[in-house]
Amino acid sequence: MTFQPVPATTEPTTTVPSSATGPPIPESRRGFGTDLWRAVARNRKAVVGVLLLLFFLVLSVFPGEIAPYSPTAEVFQPGLGPSWQHWFGTTAYGQDVLSQLIWGTRQSVVIAFAVGGLATALAVIVGVSAAYLGGISDGFLSLITDVILVIPIFPLIIVIAAYERNAGLFTLVIVLGALGWSYGARQLRAQTLSLRRRDFLEAARVRGERKSYVILHEILPTMTSLIVASFLGAALYAVLFAAGLQFIGLGDPNSQSWGTMLYWAENNEALGANMVLWAITPGVCVALLGAAFALLNYAFDEISNPALRLRKLDITGTRERPKDATITAPTTSDRILEVRGLSVAYASDEGPVVAVDNVDFDLHRGEFLGIVGESGCGKSTLMYAIARLLGPPFSGEITDGEVIFRGRDMVKLGDRQLRHIRWREFSVVMQSAMNALNPVLTIEAQMRDACKAHSKMSDKEIEKRSIEVLKLVSIDPIHLLSYPHQLSGGMRQRAMIAMALLFTPDLVIMDEPTSALDVVAQRSLMMQIKELQERLGFAVIFVTHDMSLVSHFSDRLLVMYAAQVAEFGNTRQLFDNPRHPYTRALLDAFPSIHGPRVRLTGIPGSPPDLARPPQGCRFAARCPHATPRSIAVEPPLFDVEGDLVRCFLYEESAAEENVRAGATEGVA
Ligand code: SF4
Repeated sequence: MTFQPVPATTEPTTTVPSSATGPPIPESRRGFGTDLWRAVARNRKAVVGVLLLLFFLVLSVFPGEIAPYSPTAEVFQPGLGPSWQHWFGTTAYGQDVLSQLIWGTRQSVVIAFAVGGLATALAVIVGVSAAYLGGISDGFLSLITDVILVIPIFPLIIVIAAYERNAGLFTLVIVLGALGWSYGARQLRAQTLSLRRRDFLEAARVRGERKSYVILHEILPTMTSLIVASFLGAALYAVLFAAGLQFIGLGDPNSQSWGTMLYWAENNEALGANMVLWAITPGVCVALLGAAFALLNYAFDEISNPALRLRKLDITGTRERPKDATITAPTTSDRILEVRGLSVAYASDEGPVVAVDNVDFDLHRGEFLGIVGESGCGKSTLMYAIARLLGPPFSGEITDGEVIFRGRDMVKLGDRQLRHIRWREFSVVMQSAMNALNPVLTIEAQMRDACKAHSKMSDKEIEKRSIEVLKLVSIDPIHLLSYPHQLSGGMRQRAMIAMALLFTPDLVIMDEPTSALDVVAQRSLMMQIKELQERLGFAVIFVTHDMSLVSHFSDRLLVMYAAQVAEFGNTRQLFDNPRHPYTRALLDAFPSIHGPRVRLTGIPGSPPDLARPPQGCRFAARCPHATPRSIAVEPPLFDVEGDLVRCFLYEESAAEENVRAGATEGVA
């Protein structure tokens, strides 16, 4: 079957009903307040932290209404144990312990919020101003920060307490606030320095915005999570520090606070005098209030940075569709990798997101397989799953399928077994060499680390092997002593490949190794990879979005669309005669290095949301050939002359082929 390509700029002729693209976004998802509330409600640390803090806030605001007795009234029998009248007993002076605890909450809460607010305000003013103003201002403010950072707080408080004859609440707040901002200021300064050269700040400067406006409206909003963390950290520090100071007698002994209770309990040897709860409960309250701030700090980190959130993956209902027929590649003994029905899902707030859906393919020894597709199609997740690199901070999990590598199912291997075969039998070249190479270690040190992790080679042998692999990728061995920043982008990527070849593995998985390079460097690197692959005989899985580039070097191509295999087959055949409308559109979208000049077209629309995939063909919304059937029903993979295509346009061809194959078998 053939069809005329329709210019991709033409809008799809078929309207996809809303049901095909999943349910509409619920109203409740909209709005910052609603989103924040949902995020807090879903985060256990946030829920526990908020409940604890609310509990203490209520106690601190209404102690007169909640406490059963006056905290200072010495009217009961001293040293009573717990009873219905006195839940936590009485003190050595005949006061009710519970009432003292309730009244003591107020001072700790006031200290926490006052010190947190004061320290955070100082940290923001000093840290952000120092980084943004730079020059002498930065030097002066940084000097003050460093001095405050190293001032020993205890001796200072002792001096102040002696001068003041016991530090009261106001003194504690001022001293703790004045000494507790320096750490936050350092963090905020570092963050502001990293923002200083960002384009949006340059744009604000070019627009002629005032410095104060840039700081308040451009910089501070981007650091909300750091500022909140700074406040919560300072509040936690204030609660613990104030209680500690009062416990050792450096506070006002007549004030109502948990630290003062601890001080009097210790003075009266409450633990040995059967007044255990008098000594223990104030400490428990300090710990619980501190835990509330610590939990909120963690929770805020997780809420503001979704990558830190631990979500449980619930895959119920994600595997309802029947599996595709297994790829009918000839069984040969040189097959080193078989991926069977592999599915990977990520946990998200909207439920599981299946990023790799039931993928099948195999790889032969010395074969070059290209995996191509748009961003977000699942190709990198597939690579991570094969290499078993999924795990924190990614919340992805292999939910189904097998990855048989040289006879072993990688999915079932433990960490130790994986460590044994990684790098020796298969290695991975990451996307960005600048990030993948450690910037503070020389190339030689990084090669040595890799060798030591996987072998018992001596230093001499490691040096010899490092020189060999660097020569393999045409890098002068003199660069063994270079740091990554001293190499060009192409050389860094070559160095990564050299490291991947240290043990001459059977398989090298490459995740877009050329994406950060210019066109000339890309081509040169690709030719080198191909030459090495043919010379050393290792197989390559090359993940890229540049179909045109990889098609000049790969033996077979696997085209992915929206987590599924759209087309899989011989590169030449697939390149000359792309069958799936998506493959054709991809080829039309990329310029070719060879051949006549042709007008390039894009692919209209965007891939579907994998959290709510359409029920029919995933490409239907962008496909000029979509039919009501393909919108409603998901096509399986059809085998057309050895090429696998997920498209109903080839249903008849596949059926005819099956009939022909059956007839041939019958004749035979
Ligand atoms: S089945 Fe084929 S023709 Fe139909 S929408 Fe999908 S890709 Fe287009």
